[in-house]
Amino acid sequence: MWQTSYKKAVTLSYDDGIMQDIKLVELLNKYHLKATFNINTGLNHLDHDFFIQDHHISHIPLDQMVDLYQGHEIAVHTYSHPHLTLLSDHEVSIELHLDIDMIEQIFHKKPVGMAYPYGSYDDRIVKLVRQAGLFYARTVESNHQTALQDDLLRFQPTCHHNDLNIFDIIDQFLAYDGNEPQILYIWGHSYEGDVDDNWDHIERVFKKISGHNDVFYGTNEDVLIFKK
Ligand SMILES: [Zn+2]
Repeated sequence: MWQTSYKKAVTLSYDDGIMQDIKLVELLNKYHLKATFNINTGLNHLDHDFFIQDHHISHIPLDQMVDLYQGHEIAVHTYSHPHLTLLSDHEVSIELHLDIDMIEQIFHKKPVGMAYPYGSYDDRIVKLVRQAGLFYARTVESNHQTALQDDLLRFQPTCHHNDLNIFDIIDQFLAYDGNEPQILYIWGHSYEGDVDDNWDHIERVFKKISGHNDVFYGTNEDVLIFKK
């Protein structure tokens, strides 16, 4: 586990498995960063494309994902991206298990975590996620903190890549020299680079967090789940 050699770790989390991930993965790989991609395996047809402002958002075909996401982690984002809190227990379990099984089939590895679609969850959903065999689940509640968290099924990211304070947060994280292990966890959607026209900002963030000898770079699984 990373804490035996490092005090600090960086991980990233990107949702929805969309075409802009191609550009995002290029940037991640350029800076030797590791991310987790939370995908909906039930939405990979053209009729699930959507628009944000004038931007056409398409999902990546399942058969292109293995090559694209090589070296990164694939996690669950449910089969069809519903508001889980509006579904029955049975429907929630189906949404989780269909996605878990498809991911295992495509990537030959059982996923261990997820991100809640729309960030929507409650105690009932958390229980069902635990029953589905997942060990961590990311919310959208940025806490601007880098301390370790006990409740991995209600995991709060440090900040979104568009956070106005992100460079201060990164500076503080990089300067940290205490004894408690710290995790800088950044999340977002790659289509935001197009919609917000800020790929240069995303690259600046990636550049700033990369290449530090005292920082471990890993996927969510590598960083959040401490293996002996
Ligand atoms: Zn999503």
